[in-house]
Amino acid sequence: MQILQGIGVSPGVAIGEALVIDNEGFRIPRRFVTRDAVDDEIQRLDAAINSVAGETERDRDSVNEQLGEQIGSIFSAHLQLVRDEKLRNEIVEFIRDRHYSPEYAVSRVLRRYAKVFEKLGTPHAHDIFDLEKAILRNLLGLRREELTHLASPVIVLASDLTPSETAHLDKEFVRGFATEIGGAGGHTAIVAKGLEIPAVVGVDRFLTDVSGGDLIIVDGDSGRVILQPDEETVARYRHELEQHKTLATRLESLRELSAETTDGAKIQLLGNIEFPYEVDACLQHGADGVGLYRTEFLYLQGNQVPTEEVHFQAYSDVVRAMGKRTVVIRTLDLGADKMGGPRQADERNPFLGLRSIRLSLNDIPLFRIQLRAVLRASAMGSVRLMFPLISTLPELRRAKMVLADVMEDLEEDGEPFDANLQVGMMVETPSAVMLIDEFAREVDFFSIGTNDLVQYTLAVDRTNRDVAYLYHDADPAVLRLIARTIEAATAAEIPVSLCGQMSGLPIYTMLLLGMGLRSFSLPPSAAPEVKKVCRSVDIPLCRSISDRVLQMDNVAEIEKMLREELRRIAPELVMT
Ligand code: PEP
Ligand code: MG
Repeated sequence: MQILQGIGVSPGVAIGEALVIDNEGFRIPRRFVTRDAVDDEIQRLDAAINSVAGETERDRDSVNEQLGEQIGSIFSAHLQLVRDEKLRNEIVEFIRDRHYSPEYAVSRVLRRYAKVFEKLGTPHAHDIFDLEKAILRNLLGLRREELTHLASPVIVLASDLTPSETAHLDKEFVRGFATEIGGAGGHTAIVAKGLEIPAVVGVDRFLTDVSGGDLIIVDGDSGRVILQPDEETVARYRHELEQHKTLATRLESLRELSAETTDGAKIQLLGNIEFPYEVDACLQHGADGVGLYRTEFLYLQGNQVPTEEVHFQAYSDVVRAMGKRTVVIRTLDLGADKMGGPRQADERNPFLGLRSIRLSLNDIPLFRIQLRAVLRASAMGSVRLMFPLISTLPELRRAKMVLADVMEDLEEDGEPFDANLQVGMMVETPSAVMLIDEFAREVDFFSIGTNDLVQYTLAVDRTNRDVAYLYHDADPAVLRLIARTIEAATAAEIPVSLCGQMSGLPIYTMLLLGMGLRSFSLPPSAAPEVKKVCRSVDIPLCRSISDRVLQMDNVAEIEKMLREELRRIAPELVMT
């Protein structure tokens, strides 16, 4: 049994067989082969090695010819490595003596070599990884693993999963997943939560220690991944799984009740969605509307740029399904970790680059297509429009001007739309908070995007495991920016919601209520727990908590205190 620590990003526990996908998307098969298959497997290994040697020779000859022998000699070193008898014999020994599959044996032996080079600080480790990849590609064939056509339950273990790969996981069979790459605020994490699949990201390199079919536990609450668990651990987690189910059933009984504090403050709970079908989850978990529709996922589904009709169809599906409830449609927030779509810029700092509203304003025809579709959908229900990542006033004004222009066009075309459409902005940069009173005069509402606000305040890439230790929703600097935004919105008498992942974590509910927040936009599955907290507290208690927290300067102490407060009112919600 091996216990690994990562970052739990989607709660719940999953127990099942591993499906291992390496960093190029190939499935790593089972660890062992049968005794009578050993000779055939060694032949398969030799064929793969010969093929890699042949490829390397061809590369060397072609580079020799074009660039001269000195540069071609790089490949000679590779070739020496591929043809090294000692290396081959070590791999063969694993296959013959331990009955390892050739893929597993290759990874074991080459990774051991690579680790030695890494420790010595020489660049050869890369060459070894390249060789490993080349042999595995030959052994496994060139097929990328399809995660959409599964036939039995699995736990997906991968080096990385993009947000769109995650969105396409087959929920019927994927019980959970764990990845080596990723941070708490990345969109892969957000999509996992939307799908209600337990997930852990940012686990230090572990894929070579697992093979397809191994028993695995993914604990999305504590961020643990357990390889080859012993019987006692499996039994403990099966018990926890049951407890999760019981709690979920108990909380579902709150579905028809409103989120109201014991002293009568009415709290709005809205759902965050990425795809129209998620409105089902919003309704099922009793959300009062959609507080954040991440429309950019329309672009991550295929290779085609969506037409106005494709946009309109998606928006009208959501608006119709939500009936009288409000739907906040956010304009495209593409770029950074949500790649794909119309531009895939080669950017050095994608989170500081051409993403989000900047991308829309950089391509006005594209922006207008989306705005037309949103406006047309606004005729069908209660729609609000929201611009993401606003960092300057001129940027907001430009976006509003484009909107006014599109409204004029629609009027000329005789298309119905809501002429009083409420227009809001996300508050997710420190610059927006610095000018929050000015912004409050120019928009109808705010929605605080803490996922980005944390990233930009603390200068920490939300997807990067190595700096994840800095990424905290409750960092005192972030909390003060949130409090300032709520205060400004209250003074200007405009609505303010919070739609970052923080709003779905019950540990922060009392704090946010105390700061004056009355609207939470969260992953729909998180609504019952947050509602439970709202219905268990009164506002003076929440205020006393937020007053104390805003005086504190240490995130660890803040989290400890908030956990204790939550334990006091709803111990069943404190999982770790
Ligand atoms: C946020 O940044 O908090 C947010 C809700 O937007 P996204 O996660 O899509 O960047
Ligand atoms: Mg954001």
